[in-house]
Amino acid sequence: MLITVGEHTRMRVVIRGAVQGVGFRPFVYRLANELQLRGWVSNTSQGVFIEVEGDRETLNNFLCRVQSEKPPRSFIQSLEHSFLDPLHYTSFQINESDEAGERTTIILPDIATCSECLREVFDRANRRYLYPFTNCTNCGPRFSIIESLPYDRCNTSMKKFEMCPECRREYDDPSDRRFHAQPNACPVCGPYLELWDEQGTILATGNTALDRAAEALRTGRCVGVKGIGGFHLMVDAESDDAVRRLRKRKHREEKPFALLFPGIESVKEACRVSEMEEHLLLSPESPIVLLTHREQTTVAPSVAPGNPYLGVMLPYSPLHHILMREMNAPLVATSGNLSDEPICIDEHEATRRLQGVADLFLVHNRPIVRHVDDSIVRIALERELVLRRARGYAPLPIPIREKGDRTVVAVGAHLKNTIAMNAGKNVFISQHIGDLETAESYDAFNRVIADFQSLFQKTPDDIVCDVHPEYLSTKYARQQYSRIHTVQHHYAHVAACMMENELDGKLLGVSWDGTGYGLDGTIWGGEFLQTTETSFERVAAFRTFRLPGGDLAIREPRRAALGLLVEAFGESVYDQSDISPMKDFEERELAVIRQMLEKKIHSPLTSSVGRLFDAVASIAGVRQIVRHEGQAAMELEFALPESPIDDCYDVSIIESPVPQPRWIVDWSPMAVQLLNDVRRKIPLPIITSKFHNMLVESIIQVAERIGENRIVLTGGCFQNKYLLEKTICRLREEGFTPYWHQRIPPNDGGISSGQIFAFLRSQR
Ligand code: ZN
Ligand code: ZN
Ligand code: FE
Repeated sequence: MLITVGEHTRMRVVIRGAVQGVGFRPFVYRLANELQLRGWVSNTSQGVFIEVEGDRETLNNFLCRVQSEKPPRSFIQSLEHSFLDPLHYTSFQINESDEAGERTTIILPDIATCSECLREVFDRANRRYLYPFTNCTNCGPRFSIIESLPYDRCNTSMKKFEMCPECRREYDDPSDRRFHAQPNACPVCGPYLELWDEQGTILATGNTALDRAAEALRTGRCVGVKGIGGFHLMVDAESDDAVRRLRKRKHREEKPFALLFPGIESVKEACRVSEMEEHLLLSPESPIVLLTHREQTTVAPSVAPGNPYLGVMLPYSPLHHILMREMNAPLVATSGNLSDEPICIDEHEATRRLQGVADLFLVHNRPIVRHVDDSIVRIALERELVLRRARGYAPLPIPIREKGDRTVVAVGAHLKNTIAMNAGKNVFISQHIGDLETAESYDAFNRVIADFQSLFQKTPDDIVCDVHPEYLSTKYARQQYSRIHTVQHHYAHVAACMMENELDGKLLGVSWDGTGYGLDGTIWGGEFLQTTETSFERVAAFRTFRLPGGDLAIREPRRAALGLLVEAFGESVYDQSDISPMKDFEERELAVIRQMLEKKIHSPLTSSVGRLFDAVASIAGVRQIVRHEGQAAMELEFALPESPIDDCYDVSIIESPVPQPRWIVDWSPMAVQLLNDVRRKIPLPIITSKFHNMLVESIIQVAERIGENRIVLTGGCFQNKYLLEKTICRLREEGFTPYWHQRIPPNDGGISSGQIFAFLRSQR
């Protein structure tokens, strides 16, 4: 709805793989000239870098043709692209390689099986027929098997497998597709499968193990499958019973499960798939793509209850290809862990940690060196929006313009933790680690920090963490370094978005999420931050309300709702027992909460938009208690009507007596109208539209008062596709220039990279 066809933008493309010395530069030069695009191409040891400017349609066309018409001997292992402000190039040039300055080693992510290897795997006459560990120089595991650099077989977890003469010949032959393919293997010399029972007793080996696992899956059993970056728990996605059983065992009540489909055709039967989405599903990165599912599908309703999206991926290793050909039906393929712990990578550990969850384990003897979850990506405004950055993406760097002279490690946030480290003009972001709530995830966090330092052979000069004194990551930083640097959470979100969009200087950052420690000791989350050359000012924020019970209010939207209503209407709300949330509490509970609010004990103040979503969801009767993070907000998003409605609740922007924040976004006019609508039984799609539109208009109204043209949209709330797209559309209508995330997650997975950029800015 929002694509301006004539829009002139710059596209940056970074291609890694077999692209050196195969005529890639002249090919790009010819293609760019044919399409009359301006910019440049350069070929470095780090890959081919391209920048082209033109209208969106031509740029998309360029991107497709680069991949479909590339020189015959070239191979693309990873292609990252993002859209940036135009620099108005006047011609297209081949730039000489810029190898001056610091050269940091690039470690490739794990790459989905290439078409040539796939052909061999299903060719009866081939010696690798149905061999689950087939790979070549162009595909296969990388990041998940590297122990140290340089990337040679002896430094990978393949070192224990001695190549047979035939594999050795391939490996030594420069004209072979497997020349120096470090994980090269075959059925004679390489890793093999085993099927284990719950105790770890071997039931079968080789492809018999795989066949028996498939058989078990068909009869509704749960199999723990050791893949590339860790274990999956798999069950038949068409069996509601099997899926429900897995939910119960995994203690995962309603959070959607990801699905593994046998092929693109079967995905299209279950979901609507755009051209871009199809491309992404079949890419070397092979992420989980969020797709809208069709009304009539064979996928069990318990896979993603009440959710219009399915997280879908295609097989990305020969093991998955063979298994899915055998199954010929979608499987649930969720991370092999309990709740939010890190994913299991070792088979012995799996039988212990996943005991009682998986009935059987399909394992192999190629060790996984580090955990790498599946990445999650959605398409918004015809651009990729990475929501979880791991397999296929990590640890590729995000380039920055200026070279920092200090090495900094950033330890990220508390939830959806990642860490980041800079080296020269690159910022390396770790794979998704998870919520730092359990001993297991804290161990993983420690491991990844140590891992990054040894892989990139850097000892950081500085450490950056959140301002929250109680975060485990902050405590870690304190223990390790005598001097730490702190960055406020919402400013880190803004800085992350600035970094990947190559922005600097003064602009307005809209940073909305569930929670983050504010500089005034309250919980922030509805922030408008104006950046300065080196830091930021909090120019506007949402009106605060209390969260009775603190963290409990995150699980119970009804508490946020009560806090909000008491703030808006005072004590009188307790008499309105006919509506939510008052009617959803037991009398005793309500009395306790009332006490808390009156005495202001254990009831922190918040300006969070995430909690505002919760409050509205509760008052509208959508949800009083959530089963997973962000559930109430997601349900309000999912209740939006198919064709958008422009109606809007009122919002007022009040000038405050204090300098920071100078403006307060007051939601109380909305609260009045919302209660009225609920009483008049106005349908939910209208209520939620009016609420979303109110949020969008609040951005426009604040932006008009601040007077910055460039507006950065960041924070977990901007995972909401409607909120993101509508805000961009309205900002453009009013003459502003909006920016949002592409390669770095808008959620707390982006905090670590933002901490690095914020630190670099502060050092000027
Ligand atoms: Zn291959
Ligand atoms: Zn071999
Ligand atoms: Fe956040």
